[in-house]
Amino acid sequence: LLSCTPDSTDLSYDSSPPQEISSSSVPSTPLSLRTLPLDGHFNFEGIQYAAKDFGGSYYNLPFAVLHPKSVSDISSTVKYVFELGSASGLTVAARGHGHSVQGQSQAPNGVVIHMESLRLPKMQVHDGESPYVDVSGGELWINILHETLKHGLAPKSWTDYLHLTVGGTLSNAGISGQAFQHGPQIDNVYELEVVTGKGEVVTCSGKHNADLFHAVLGGLGQFGIITRAKISLGAAPERVKWIRMLYHDFSMFSRDQEHLISRKNTFDYIEGFVNINKTGILNKWRSSFKQSDPLQASLFKSEGKVLYCLEVALYFNPHESNVMSKKVDELLSELSYIRSTLFTSEVSLVDFLDRVHLSEMKLRAKGLRDVLHPWLNLLVPKSKISDFAKEVFGNILQGNSNGPILIYPVNKSKWNNKTSLVTPDEDIFYMVAFLPSAVPSASGTESLEHILAQNERIKSLCSTVLLGIKQYLSHYSTQEEWQTHFGPQWEVFVQRKSEYDPLAILAPGQRIFQRTS
Ligand code: FAD
Repeated sequence: LLSCTPDSTDLSYDSSPPQEISSSSVPSTPLSLRTLPLDGHFNFEGIQYAAKDFGGSYYNLPFAVLHPKSVSDISSTVKYVFELGSASGLTVAARGHGHSVQGQSQAPNGVVIHMESLRLPKMQVHDGESPYVDVSGGELWINILHETLKHGLAPKSWTDYLHLTVGGTLSNAGISGQAFQHGPQIDNVYELEVVTGKGEVVTCSGKHNADLFHAVLGGLGQFGIITRAKISLGAAPERVKWIRMLYHDFSMFSRDQEHLISRKNTFDYIEGFVNINKTGILNKWRSSFKQSDPLQASLFKSEGKVLYCLEVALYFNPHESNVMSKKVDELLSELSYIRSTLFTSEVSLVDFLDRVHLSEMKLRAKGLRDVLHPWLNLLVPKSKISDFAKEVFGNILQGNSNGPILIYPVNKSKWNNKTSLVTPDEDIFYMVAFLPSAVPSASGTESLEHILAQNERIKSLCSTVLLGIKQYLSHYSTQEEWQTHFGPQWEVFVQRKSEYDPLAILAPGQRIFQRTS
């Protein structure tokens, strides 16, 4: 019934600039789509932006872009495409903020739904014993942060970057340094409203229509379009103690990370990153960080070696400053970092959570933001992390001057195993994110070709030697690869697809299933 999509318009990381598909391959407009009664409207021209994404290497021009003003706009459109039959070949992709990197939010010749146009429901915070915020699926997380803070509340689980939509991150997972104790964002949702691939509007939760609820969370947009979400909230702290420290030795670094995520009463945020062959690292440290011992730190030489940076944060309110300091001292005393490399900072919750946006604005000012982003995200089981680090950081990668490499462990016990998300089969696994940028004109180790070759070597290591590693924000070109990715969960995934989107209309850019009649 459902087969994989070999997409002729897919430029698959061709290093030449993305090209438009020829207008002759665009189907003529079905008249009735133009006349569909809507609260919002369709655009058929000036829609090139919906053919692109943050990755910059895929370009698939849609046939039309819907700017919905109501859920019924979305359901009428999907129902229309569903009833149109196979001859149209039309597919539908919800587009959040278009921050995928491999065409996932694109619909070649299909309908893209610009989810940020959906402003309903108006964001509303509900206080009480289990507070939550009721938001549109097209809402940006940064707006949710600002609104919930007015009530002294905030979501508990985040991504590192907040200019992403609720529907976009809930279709994947939404992972950051809080996920070790709260699970990813998909595990912090009470209820969803979803438009299925048949155009039906369904409300679902862990108790009501639970199968659809779990299917959609981490479901890569395959089972429905999230139009509304109730997101769980907790008390928001005012301030954040933000700390970074360096390690030479990977085993000490990962042992400390694992100690912290397993400990009760620990930091509120735990991440880490890798620096390979960087010289003068301390001088380039963020100016907002204070060095605990500037004299000792100035004597520290990284000498182009691999260094691991543990990054942690503790939330507090100003009147708890002393308690916070004592707790930080206690936690730090249990760690084995290089003593002269402790960097601390105190910032507001907003400045901490929105930190990547600040860096983004600096890149934008230098014209370095809208470049290619051949990213690779992996979930690596604890039992494989040390071999992985040895081979990848010690051998495959020559440096990481073109982007950060994040690495941090999480506790699987805090993650709900009923969602569609696939994770390694161990109690602790690591999020490892290679996040390079490639300027099209770059050469040598900075070039797109070089970065892609590195990514291939890492993926090959995972598929041949270090088994059990899973891609996150996955991208594959054949259905066999998707089947391997899902493993035992594949059967359920296919069964849910045939139930909720039987014609495989939704999210064609994931290249899992092909539109059928
Ligand atoms: P889009 O790219 O627009 O869409 C992604 C997929 O979701 C598509 O298949 C689309 O069809 C589908 N979709 C979108 N909206 C809906 C909806 N309402 N209902 C159903 N399906 C929908 N991820 C993390 O987990 N942690 C991070 O720390 C993190 N940091 C990031 C930092 C940056 C700078 C960037 C660019 C990405 C980061 N990501 C991170 C990845 C990000 O979470 C995903 O790429 C996410 O999908 C982007 O959200 P979006 O709103 O742009 O979605």
